[in-house]
Amino acid sequence: MALPIKLLSTDFDGTLFAEFENPPVPVRLQEIIGNLQAQGTKWVINTGRDLSSLMEAIGRAHLSVKPDHLVLVEREIYSHEESQYVELADWNRDCHHAHAELFLRVREDVPRLMAWVNERFRATVYEDAYSPFCLIAEKNEHADVIHDYLNEYSETVPGLTVVRNDVYARFSHINYNKGTALHELARRLKISAEHTLAAGDHLNDLPMLMTRYAHYLVAPRNAVDRVKATVREQNGYVSHLSHGHGIADGIEFHLNGFTKI
Ligand SMILES: [Mg+2]
Repeated sequence: MALPIKLLSTDFDGTLFAEFENPPVPVRLQEIIGNLQAQGTKWVINTGRDLSSLMEAIGRAHLSVKPDHLVLVEREIYSHEESQYVELADWNRDCHHAHAELFLRVREDVPRLMAWVNERFRATVYEDAYSPFCLIAEKNEHADVIHDYLNEYSETVPGLTVVRNDVYARFSHINYNKGTALHELARRLKISAEHTLAAGDHLNDLPMLMTRYAHYLVAPRNAVDRVKATVREQNGYVSHLSHGHGIADGIEFHLNGFTKI
């Protein structure tokens, strides 16, 4: 019987990878992914990290498997060709232009937003190559309050949204997220949502944890409540195991009844 999962989209931190575990990506999960790839399934790591940060973490994890594709900074698409990851030039260019145009409209408000945060919290606020406003809060409770404030602001700027992951947040264009990037990759690979699995643990994964993009959904035990609820509401699988163990469990759950891997 043909494999039901032809495209596997996994978040990285907290989903696939647990920094404090040894190995940080469970061997069993690596075996499952490797077996799926051997049968033609494409694997994309769909992450908020940028290329160098992800490559460094993958290197340290000594992975036995390599992703076929990457979605980086929750929006840019790369594909493995020969020994390197090559960008999907037209998508990434459109994405870059959309953000440049959007952030021009945001830039003059950034000092006011940073001042609001600095007056109330001990947090790190800065600009990087991907957003004129980035946040690292001291704790999630602070990030929640700042997130609400940023959401209110983003409603005044058409196209603007806040991407939140744990204590981190940044601005992004509403049309570019883990979901739309997964959709574009699937379109190019000619793989339908019916044959796609997505797994994630935090708020920045919500845009891809939708049956519109992935029929099979998985959240590990450590996922935040909103992610677990979203996955359950769509008949997805919430594992009683954490991080990569939970993802291995979830993939096996969805494959169960189709084939032995
Ligand atoms: Mg994560």
